[in-house]
Amino acid sequence: MSTDRVVLVTGGNRGIGRAIAERFVAQGYKVAVTSRSDEGPAGTLTVRADVTDAAAVDAAFAEVENALGPIEILVANAGITKDTLLLRMTEDDFDSVVATNLGGTFRVVKRASKGMLRARWGRVILISSVVGLYGSAGQVNYAASKSALVGFARSLTRELGGRGITANVVAPGFIETDMTAELPADTQAEYKKNIPAGRFATADEVAGVVTWMASDDAAYISGAVIPVDGGLGMGH
Ligand code: NDP
Repeated sequence: MSTDRVVLVTGGNRGIGRAIAERFVAQGYKVAVTSRSDEGPAGTLTVRADVTDAAAVDAAFAEVENALGPIEILVANAGITKDTLLLRMTEDDFDSVVATNLGGTFRVVKRASKGMLRARWGRVILISSVVGLYGSAGQVNYAASKSALVGFARSLTRELGGRGITANVVAPGFIETDMTAELPADTQAEYKKNIPAGRFATADEVAGVVTWMASDDAAYISGAVIPVDGGLGMGH
């Protein structure tokens, strides 16, 4: 099994992205992460990029390609929330979440696809969320941006599936990171009641699924939505 491929994880400086980058490093891959601020984990190359900025994405990719070679595995992980009920949601709350979660995915996948097409090999893994299909009050912007990734990955599969490139969605449930730490304690307790597993997951539990999706064992899986949610989204 080949584990010396080049990987780029967006938003790999903290949370789920950082755990994914650490797993790839541990398995021997050549790993780069994008960050807007601090550094990625040990053993990674950190490049600066805001995924809402196409020129910054292009420059970051060029830096990784020069240092490590063409990107063969892309994990589009960078994402934000701006939660509020629909009637209170501003244009900026909506646009910034869509521009980051969906637009950012578009920018990085488009840029990565060039090298993947040339190599006739690639893995595109999009980090969505259980709420993309389950829905979530107060997250119209976020849920819409995350469910859109399913249509994105499936369209990409139809476009590039014949060129050795797979595109899949990983849909985490509630994972212990800065994003969920912001939730009030009573909201966290309410969520836990509805999760069959009865607990939140660690970021590493998502990372293990992502590295598997990138492996040779997952070569015939494309356009799939893989939940990592303790059963929360069953049937959706
Ligand atoms: P964190 O808030 O811990 O980290 C978010 C990461 O995304 C950071 O690295 C951040 O960079 C980066 N990022 C945000 N906006 C941009 C941008 N415009 N350009 C570049 N990087 C950006 O989030 P999580 O680790 O919890 O979430 C990671 C992904 O997993 C997200 O897509 C999220 O929606 C998804 N997810 C998370 C769940 C959870 O329970 N935590 C559940 C389901 C899905 P910086 O440090 O510079 O801000």
